Amino acid sequence: MNQIDFSITIAHLYPELLNIYGDMGNISAIKNRCNWRGINVNVVEIKSGYRINPDEFDFYFMGGGQDKQQIEASIELLKNKERLHRAMESDAVFLAICGGYQLLGHYYLPKNAEKLDGIGLLDAYTKAGDKRFIGNITGSCPYINNSTITGFENHSGLTFLKGDTKPLMKVLKGYGNNGKDKTEGARYKNVFGTYLHGSLLPKNPKFCDYLISLALKRKYKCEIPLQPLNDEIEEKAHNFCVKYK
Ligand code: GLN
Repeated sequence: MNQIDFSITIAHLYPELLNIYGDMGNISAIKNRCNWRGINVNVVEIKSGYRINPDEFDFYFMGGGQDKQQIEASIELLKNKERLHRAMESDAVFLAICGGYQLLGHYYLPKNAEKLDGIGLLDAYTKAGDKRFIGNITGSCPYINNSTITGFENHSGLTFLKGDTKPLMKVLKGYGNNGKDKTEGARYKNVFGTYLHGSLLPKNPKFCDYLISLALKRKYKCEIPLQPLNDEIEEKAHNFCVKYK
């Protein structure tokens, strides 16, 4: 089969609620890096009230949002909790950014507000800190041979990982999950969370391709080698952010 026959289907979770700091750009990056290789991508926007069928999707994306939008997103996610756990157990790929990331853990406890239940795909919990972590961040990611991943963070939440949930990367510059343990983001199975906005994937092509490969492997039950792309512009943007930001 040549790559023109391959396709993936993405569930974009609650774009009307969780989509700040350019997080939509992650969907564009996945779509383009697939289409440039002749791999088709179908994106379904999952709005409030939608009953998710885990058999339909290979990839789930959720952006970040302020505490207010997270309340509605938490309610919606909990309605689909069992089905999203089935998706995780079937090795579907998840990428959740910041507020979305926090809701994939057990809970997010805002300052002076009710605790928001998460759906527990990640063995992690978040509580709001006194300080807002804002700025550029770079780390080294073991899943792409310790290559760097770079982006922008803006959160007051402090996230702590437990059990088999491991960090996405080691912080080289910036705050990360909690500003203390030098971890950033999280991974369990093919579920990834991160605080990196920006959007993340356009200037981190290695990580974008890694996620695409995982989604293709899950769907086709074998490694699908990705044709190399000319990433000169992407790498320039990446290296500028790593060096100067
Ligand atoms: N409201 C959450 C926090 O401040 C998430 C913010 C975001 O998604 N940027 O930690």
